[in-house]
Amino acid sequence: MFESGAAHADVVVIGGGIVGSATAYFLLRESPGLRVLVIEPDPGYALASSLRASGGCRVQFTCPENIAMSLFSLDFIQAFDATMGTATHPAAAQWVPGGYLFIVPPDNARALERNVRAQQAQGCHVELLTPSELSRRFPSMNVSDLGAGAHTPRDGWCDPNGLLWGFRRKAVELGARYRPARVVGADTTATQVIAVRLDDGARVTAEAFVNATGAWSGEVAGLFGMTLPISPLRRFEHYFTPGSPMERLPYVKDVARLAFRSEGAGFSGGLVDSNEPRGFNFEVDHGYFERVVWPAVAHRFPPLQAARCHRTWSGLYEQCELDGNPVIGPWRERLPNLHTVAGFSGHGMMHAPAAGRAIAELIVHGRFQTLDLSRLGYERVLAHAPYAEQGIL
Ligand SMILES: Cc1cc2nc3c(=O)[nH]c(=O)nc-3n(C[C@H](O)[C@H](O)[C@H](O)COP(=O)(O)OP(=O)(O)OC[C@H]3O[C@@H](n4cnc5c(N)ncnc54)[C@H](O)[C@@H]3O)c2cc1C
Repeated sequence: MFESGAAHADVVVIGGGIVGSATAYFLLRESPGLRVLVIEPDPGYALASSLRASGGCRVQFTCPENIAMSLFSLDFIQAFDATMGTATHPAAAQWVPGGYLFIVPPDNARALERNVRAQQAQGCHVELLTPSELSRRFPSMNVSDLGAGAHTPRDGWCDPNGLLWGFRRKAVELGARYRPARVVGADTTATQVIAVRLDDGARVTAEAFVNATGAWSGEVAGLFGMTLPISPLRRFEHYFTPGSPMERLPYVKDVARLAFRSEGAGFSGGLVDSNEPRGFNFEVDHGYFERVVWPAVAHRFPPLQAARCHRTWSGLYEQCELDGNPVIGPWRERLPNLHTVAGFSGHGMMHAPAAGRAIAELIVHGRFQTLDLSRLGYERVLAHAPYAEQGIL
């Protein structure tokens, strides 16, 4: 154990959102007694992406690493409430087994089928549905322009707030310390990071450092002289209700990046604008639902022509501009004790358990012990070699 004001830790985790808190938890699970200090300036997480997420967790990916991360994370999140409570607080990720449904036009049907086979080969439960099967299961859906759907009934969603605080409280119970400060500088030699400098004037030395600052990770990497192509991408989430009663829906996603799911008496979701200018912009465009989202949901589900939007909020994706996949691993060539775990581009909540465990394994054991995530390392950034998901993002 060590004092929270201590100037030394074994591992400094920069950023205490879901990814940083999962990392702290797994570090202590892998190595009890490790001195883990999490630097998080915002105790209320007012701007953090973690508390603005929609909660979706799915196995429908194409990169084997993403599928494998999802399989581990889904099991972990489903067991979260039973396993992650502390002596003072129950854990409450509140898993909802609502399923996911990817839908594609006829031109993309073969690609979707290929993806489904790849997911099945990794042990995922995925059903490929024809338009008439889709229509039977989801009677309100307009399937006239669809070629196929892929349904994963074991996917679902959880409460990101419960997941974040569950990880944080458990990490603290195991010995992690959280320090309410911002990293503003770094001291490095030619081959390693020695210390980070905080905005409260402190300097903290450590053996290893982890950049888990989500949408801020590109900026934070710059403090170490590292170029990380991860930028903040604003995305809106809307809560809306149908005009007339409708069946409950899984998390529906299409190729235009429309994504929404049942929530209470209505629906929660949005439509990502990939061309949104990058930046720390949290302003809410209250016309976005009517202009962009409503036409898409009303076309797909005609009862939603009378949909009413009750609330819109904004948040940031930590968009990896190289390929939309996270960067997980050390900067081997220059500062091998600086690790990055960021750039999930909209999937960081669901992949936090697997990614946190992976970084903990790298730091404690020197290499991956469970999932080999080498292809997601920083090396591909240096080589300008994108490794992207195919199809729906
Ligand atoms: C509207 C919306 C919906 C989403 N839906 C989903 C979904 O359904 N499923 C899913 O998996 N993902 C979803 N995401 C993405 C998900 O929210 C993110 O991938 C995830 O929260 C990233 O977690 P994080 O801990 O890396 O980032 P954050 O939660 O943003 O945490 C980063 C932390 O770093 C701190 N920080 C910043 N600068 C510094 C510094 N200099 N020093 C120290 N700390 C610093 C910040 O205060 C912040 O708390 C969604 C995102 C949005 C915006």
